[in-house]
Amino acid sequence: MILTRLRCAKVLQLTLAVIKPDAVAQPLLLEALHRKILENNFIIVRRKDLIWKRSDSERFYAEHKGRFFYQRLVEFMSSGPMRAYILAKEDAVSHWRELMGPTKVYRARYTSPKTIRAQYGLTDTRNTTHGSDSSESAEREIAFFFPEFSVQHWLEMEEPHFRMGH
Ligand code: GDP
Ligand code: MG
Repeated sequence: MILTRLRCAKVLQLTLAVIKPDAVAQPLLLEALHRKILENNFIIVRRKDLIWKRSDSERFYAEHKGRFFYQRLVEFMSSGPMRAYILAKEDAVSHWRELMGPTKVYRARYTSPKTIRAQYGLTDTRNTTHGSDSSESAEREIAFFFPEFSVQHWLEMEEPHFRMGH
């Protein structure tokens, strides 16, 4: 009984995870990252393969406009296919960020060598994955990538099904 109550008390959080073009270009890495998501018990709420126009890239990264890496970031993110996921889990935002590791690949290799970016990142720009950094940005970013997605509808129609299976 207590277990049941505990399960019901679980608060799921959503986050946006993106496998960036450098990683999608490597089929075995793409597969390994997908497996990593599953092995870490995230619920895959939605998944989408897409290619950005340059203007999508500029809009998504508007907060970085003017930084020295902005142009190459915008170019890279619209250079080829990406895979985006809406993931659900308790503390999904911080858990996915922990798995990714620090933004800068070379720093990540020293401080957290087992993270995704440390293991697979090519450069500070081509750093394999994206993850929302707060639940507020997750909400905004999920709407950016999945404008058709309704959290309310998911909570009502799909989430109870996952809860039973956990
Ligand atoms: P994130 O949330 O960890 O992805 O990091 P940010 O939001 O700060 O930056 C967005 C993206 O811009 C990063 O994932 C990198 O691809 C790129 N970026 C950030 N900082 C740097 C930097 O110092 N150098 C380069 N080359 N790229 C950077
Ligand atoms: Mg960020």
